[in-house]
Amino acid sequence: MISENLRTDRKTFTTHLECGLKGDRYSADQIHGLSKAGKPLLVKYDLKELASTVTRHELAQRPADIWRYREFLPVRKTENIVSLGEIHTPIIPLPNLQEGTGTLYVKDESRLPTGSFKARGLCLAVSMAKELGLNKVAMPTNGNAGAALAAYGVRAGIQCYVFCPEDTPEINVREIAAQGAIVRRVNGLIHDCGRIVREGIQEMGWFDFSTLKEPYRIEGKKTMGLELADQCQWKLPDVIFYPTGGGTGLIGMWKAFQELKSIGWIEGALPRMVAVQAEGCAPIVKAYQQGERFAETWENAHTIAAGIRVPAAIGDFLMLDAIKESSGYALTVSDTAILGARDIAAAKEGFLMCPEGAATFAAYQKSLAEGLIASSESVVLFNCASGLKYDLPPMNEMIDRHQPIHYSNMF
Ligand SMILES: *Cc1c(COP(=O)(O)O)cnc(C)c1O
Repeated sequence: MISENLRTDRKTFTTHLECGLKGDRYSADQIHGLSKAGKPLLVKYDLKELASTVTRHELAQRPADIWRYREFLPVRKTENIVSLGEIHTPIIPLPNLQEGTGTLYVKDESRLPTGSFKARGLCLAVSMAKELGLNKVAMPTNGNAGAALAAYGVRAGIQCYVFCPEDTPEINVREIAAQGAIVRRVNGLIHDCGRIVREGIQEMGWFDFSTLKEPYRIEGKKTMGLELADQCQWKLPDVIFYPTGGGTGLIGMWKAFQELKSIGWIEGALPRMVAVQAEGCAPIVKAYQQGERFAETWENAHTIAAGIRVPAAIGDFLMLDAIKESSGYALTVSDTAILGARDIAAAKEGFLMCPEGAATFAAYQKSLAEGLIASSESVVLFNCASGLKYDLPPMNEMIDRHQPIHYSNMF
């Protein structure tokens, strides 16, 4: 059955949009890409009015999906919401992987439509595209964003063009094609695909749906922070480990925490935000270490964790600001550590992470070893996509049923 949240019209509170860097204002309810300064736009709400309209208790009575937080989201009319069932994702304890007296949990985002947390962002972005009357959009992707765009886009009747690096996981490319988008592989990386999107705007008349080049994907990813706070009874964990590519989730969650804090809904301190990147593609970590606010493009980017292989991110300063404001940090993990972490989590907890999710577990281990976090702290990792979308170690042991079976020699 359709969620009650999608049958109800609600009061909305968007006042305007603001350049994430300069703070200049843009009107709501109009199509926008980047700000005049070429930076991401952030959606602003009348939070005071919001807080006098709804309470935490009232939200708790609504069905557990992202539309529970409707007042914190930009869609004006319920009829414009394009939904595939964006349920709350569980927060699962990992007692066999945890060290010390603290707690280790993973928020399992693989339960969302299309098997990744990209569904949160694209659900909002596509709903807003529908509300604002866009009918043709294009996007560069490492796989999961394209899959989510295709799914929501086809549902909304929006034509989607998707460009991905040639070594994007096969399942993602097929998923995108199956879900009605036009998809092409490109012999380059995601920023090369981004250039193809940009240069096609004039001729194709499509809208650029690249990460943070439209204002609403962040609002969708913001629900991760709203939901986490809600699920933790408005008392957040000490540390959050986030696998960082374009950074939408890190920025979105931090935005959620700021909004909740400003209306007094969060009790206690905000979490330290930790950006996790792969050794072979770590522009944000490098900028963090050098104390820069903007990151340089990373040359020859490579890692098995496709979702975080983003050599240049337009929201770099928003990520670096969030890391700094939260007293967090940024660190790298190797591909070997990522695969090792995935195998340990699967073998010890029965929890099959995607490589990007495993990167956060590897970063947790490294952080403990280097004393960056204390073993008494509460930690939440993000498993951002289904482990089943990726290659797994081979298993080729076979039994010949026509031969005698010597059980005890066999296992
Ligand atoms: C997109 C993606 C990421 C990175 O998310 P951002 O919010 O863009 O930084 C991490 N893991 C997976 C599986 C992804 O698809």
